[in-house]
Amino acid sequence: MKKISVLGSTGSIGVSTLDIAAAHPDQFQIVALTAGANLHLLAEQVRRFRPSVVAVLRKEDEVSLRDMLGAAAPEVLSGLEGLMACAVHDEAQMVVSAIVGAAGLVPTMAAIESGKDIALANKETLVTAGALVMEAVQRKGVKLYPVDSEHSAIFQSLEGHRKADVRRLILTASGGPFRDKALAELKQVSPADALAHPNWSMGKKISIDSATMMNKGLEVIEARWLFDLPADRIDVHIHPQSIVHSMVEYVDGSVIAQLGIPDMKTPIAYALSYPERLPLNLPALDLCALGSLSFSKPDNQRFACLELAYEALRAEGTAPAVLNAANEVAVEAFLNRELGFLAIPDILRRVLDAHRHGALTHIDEALRADRWGRQAARRLIDAAL
Ligand code: NDP
Ligand code: MG
Repeated sequence: MKKISVLGSTGSIGVSTLDIAAAHPDQFQIVALTAGANLHLLAEQVRRFRPSVVAVLRKEDEVSLRDMLGAAAPEVLSGLEGLMACAVHDEAQMVVSAIVGAAGLVPTMAAIESGKDIALANKETLVTAGALVMEAVQRKGVKLYPVDSEHSAIFQSLEGHRKADVRRLILTASGGPFRDKALAELKQVSPADALAHPNWSMGKKISIDSATMMNKGLEVIEARWLFDLPADRIDVHIHPQSIVHSMVEYVDGSVIAQLGIPDMKTPIAYALSYPERLPLNLPALDLCALGSLSFSKPDNQRFACLELAYEALRAEGTAPAVLNAANEVAVEAFLNRELGFLAIPDILRRVLDAHRHGALTHIDEALRADRWGRQAARRLIDAAL
C-alpha cells in the first residue's frame, strides 16, 4: 500500500490521480489533499478518500470546509503552512505535485527535503529552480517521476538504454487550437477559442500555454533538468494527433518512442506505480483507424514563446524563473481580457530583455526572480491598458 499526498487535488491532474487511486484501493491510500478554492469538490474528495489532513488556500475557507464536513472533517489547515504540512506529512511516501504555477515550487521542494518520492506534474517547479530541485533530489536520494506526458514518454524510452548513447530528445507538441490559423487572425482570438484544445482536457493555464506553445517551451526546460541534457539536444516536432508522446534518438540512429491515446491517466499511473503498470480500462490505441501520423517543424513566428523559452534556458540562472512568472501574469491577463493573444509573447520579450540575469544558488533567488518577473509583467500590462 503506497501512501500518497496530493497537492492540487481539485485540478485536472489531481482529479485524474484520485480516479486512479479509487480504481486501485488495494495499492494506494490517500493521506493528505490540498485545494485552492474549490471547497465543494474538496469536501467530496474528503468523504470519499478519508485523508488525515487537508489544506485550503484561504484561512476563512477552513471554517466553511469544517462546516461542510461536520463529524467527517479531518484536520483542516490553510495557506502556505497548510500546504507545507501536507507536503511533508509523516504518513506520506509519495507526493503528487499538481498545483498550477510557481506556487508549486516551495511545497515540492519541502516534500523532497523531507524524503518523499515525487510524482511531478507541476513543471513550473523545474522551470523556476531546476538546478536546485535536482540537486535536492540527488542529495536526498528520492525519486522524481515525471507526470507530464512528454517526459513520461522520454522516461519510458530511456529505460533499458545507456544515457551516454542518447543523441537528442524529441518532444512532440500538438500545436494547440491555432496550429493552422492565419497569423493575422490570431490577434482577435478570445480566451474561449484558446481554451478549446483539440486533444487534451486540462486546466486553464496550461491550455493557454498550449495555444501559445509556451507549454512546450516550459517542457523543454523541464526536460533539460529531468534528463540532464543541454538545450541544443532537445528538439520539438509538431504532431497534431498527440499519439507519439515523445521520442529519444540514439547515436546509432535508432529512435525509441512511446505511443498512446491522449489521456493523462497513463503517465500519472506510471508515475504512481513505477515500475509496475496498472490496468486502466482506457480505449485501446487503434493505429489502423487513425491511418496516419504526421510531423512538422514548429513555426517560430507563430510560436514566439517557444523561442523565448529556449533563450531563457540558454541564459540559465534566474532567466527561466522570470520568464515563467511573467508568463503566469500574462496568461491571467489574457484570460481576464486585459491583453490580446499576440501581446503575450510581446510582454514576455520585454520582461526577459529588461531582466539582469543572476545566478541561481538558493531557492530565495528563484523566489525573488519570480516576484520580479510578476511585477515587471504587471507594470507593462497596466501601462498598456
Ligand atoms: P488546474 O488548474 O486544473 O488545477 C490546479 C490545482 O492547483 C487545483 O487544485 C487548484 O485549486 C490548485 N491551486 C491553484 N492555485 C493554487 C495556489 N496558488 N496555491 C495552492 N493551490 C493552488 O491545473 P492542471 O491540473 O491542469 O495542472 C496542474 C499542473 O500540472 C500544472 O503545472 C500543469 O502545467 C501540469 N500539467 C497538467 C496537465 C494536464 O493535462 N492538465 C498535463 C501535464 C502537466 P482550486 O481549483 O481548488 O482552486
Ligand atoms: Mg505535456
